[in-house]
Order: sequence, then structure tokens, then C-alpha cells
Amino acid sequence: MLSLQNPFPTTPKPSLNLNSSTPLFSTTFKPHFPNTLKPPKPHKPHFATRTQSLLQYNRKPQLAGETPRVVVITSGKGGVGKTTTTANVGLSLARLGFSVVAIDADVGLRNLDLLLGLENRVNYTVVEVLNGDCRLDQALVRDKRWSNFELLCISKPRSKLPIGFGGKALVWLVDALKSRQEGSPDFIIIDCPAGIDAGFITAITPANEAVLVTTPDITSLRDADRVTGLLECDGIRDIKMIVNRVRTDMIKGEDMMSVLDVQEMLGLSLLGVIPEDSEVIRSTNRGYPLVLNKPPTLAGLAFEQAAWRLVEQDSMKAVMMEEEPKKRGFFSFFGG
Ligand code: ADP
Ligand code: MG
Repeated sequence: MLSLQNPFPTTPKPSLNLNSSTPLFSTTFKPHFPNTLKPPKPHKPHFATRTQSLLQYNRKPQLAGETPRVVVITSGKGGVGKTTTTANVGLSLARLGFSVVAIDADVGLRNLDLLLGLENRVNYTVVEVLNGDCRLDQALVRDKRWSNFELLCISKPRSKLPIGFGGKALVWLVDALKSRQEGSPDFIIIDCPAGIDAGFITAITPANEAVLVTTPDITSLRDADRVTGLLECDGIRDIKMIVNRVRTDMIKGEDMMSVLDVQEMLGLSLLGVIPEDSEVIRSTNRGYPLVLNKPPTLAGLAFEQAAWRLVEQDSMKAVMMEEEPKKRGFFSFFGG
């Protein structure tokens, strides 16, 4: 039977039973650290990452796949960075010249509008569109910074979804966006709620591809693995992951799982690696996504690169530190 073991067994925590009898992982987790019977291994951190295609600012990325690309940003666990990813990848795509509609499908706890600084401009939501109280274009909020980026909220904050609102309503919405007079958007990005209940099922129904956001910790990884299985059951085969809040200092100190470990555990293609960056919190509070910062911050650059790979349906590769040529500088870490 497959089981999940705590890779950081410093002091035993009796209350945390990670060896649950329910096998949630589809892969066997190989503990990164030696067990207590063996002598400690020499320090061999995995943390470097390498990209397959580099960002080339003298060209526009080639849009792969059929449009509109309907991408759900999901995770299972809450607070890992789905909304941050939706805002930053969405605005990066708009900056690259693609038309983007971001749908906030986190119904009870919507906050994409806050991250984008658009909260005062949301007058109508999808619920009013479906009730016939307004037109679809009245519910779409166009960003003043990048006019090819629009936000659509499902409902008012703290409101409950009307009975009967589900995946079919979202499929109708995506079809309505496709047949708009000004043409179909290139990307429809859906910010998914946490959990795996009705809200999650609704959010993934119209999607053809998924970006799974995870942090390098076991709770987030277990949820991510569960969600991967559910996405596959729903017919979504194109699943890529973003590893968020990565701290190289902790990986070096063997206090955090490496990106390579995460990739081996989940077995998904890697779209991006985002470092822990206090600028993310600052930009969240200002309603000004960090990809718009000048000069760009490290996390902002990493989000831009993830957006570039999303456009080209490309991925990056996590490699062991020793495989990287020495002193290639910080950007080698993010594949730049
Ligand atoms: P989710 O939508 O998955 O619940 P959020 O995007 O709302 O998660 O992010 C949760 C919190 O984590 C926010 O306060 C956000 O600013 C913070 N956060 C997300 N990514 C990073 C990062 N790379 N570095 C620092 N803080 C981050
Ligand atoms: Mg969120």
C-alpha cells in the first residue's frame, strides 16, 4: 500500500497521523532525509531548476492550442496562492498581448477583485446575468491598465450561490464569452475555490486544462495529489503545476522539500517556481499585482515566465543543484 511519510521528522508529533490508512498518493513518497538508523547523507540539496525554453523579450510567445484556452487555477488546499497566480499570470498574459477574461469562481470568499484593485468597479456579477438583471458585458470589468484584461465575478462577496448554479451554468458562461461580438478571448482563467466540494466541481467543469498551485509542504502536496486525480476523472489531462513560496535558504538547510522532490511526488509538468517574496503581500494589499511592478521583483519575473510557458504549452525542468554549472547566478534558479 502506498503511504505518505513526513519527510521532516524532527520531533515526533503524535497528534499528526500522516500514515493515514487511505492511500491518497498515486506515487510512493521517497523521504528526502535519511532515517535515524542510517548515518546522515552528505548535504545534497535539490533546488535548481532549468527551463526548456528561455524567455525571449524580442519576440511574442506563440499561442499553442485552440482558443479560448480555458484554464482553471486550482490547488485543493486554501491559501497556497491560487488567487495570486490568477491575478499575476492573467495580467502577464494581457501584457503579452492576449485577451484574457479572469473568472472569480471562489464564491463565498471572492478576493480576486481586491488583488486586482478592481473591487469598486464590480457592479454586477454572473448571478445577475443569469437572473436577467443585466447583460454579460455589464458584469465584465475591464482593467484600465491593460484593456485586454477583464474580470468577471460569480457573485457578491459573502453571498451564497443560487440553488441550481453549477458546472452547466459556467459552461454556458464560457460559451457566451466565446460568442461575444468583439470575438472570443484567448484565455479564460478560472480562480477555483479551495476544497473539493460543489464549488470546486463547478469551477473545473468548463476547463480544458489546469494549473495546480502547490507549496512545498506535505499538507499542500497531499491535497494537490487528490485534486490531480479528480481533474483526471473529469477528463482534464493537461495539468501543470506551479510551486509557490519556495525558499532556497530552507531547501539548502534541508528544511523544505526541493522542487525536484515535489515534481517527483506529483508527477506533473512544471509551469513555474515562485519564490517566497514579501512583495507579493505588499502588492496584494495595494491591489496592484506584482507583475506590474517596475523594476520587476523576483516573484514577478517568475510569474511572467510561467505565463510565457502557459502560452506556448511549455514546461520547465527541476534539476539537482549539482547538475547546474556553478555560479550561473540567481536567474538559473528560475530558468531565466
Ligand atoms: P489562495 O487563493 O490559494 O487561497 P492567495 O493567492 O489568496 O491563496 O494567497 C494566500 C496568501 O499568501 C496571501 O496573503 C498572499 O499574499 C500570500 N502569498 C501567495 N504567494 C506568495 C509568495 N510567493 N510569497 C509571499 N506571499 C505569498
Ligand atoms: Mg483564493
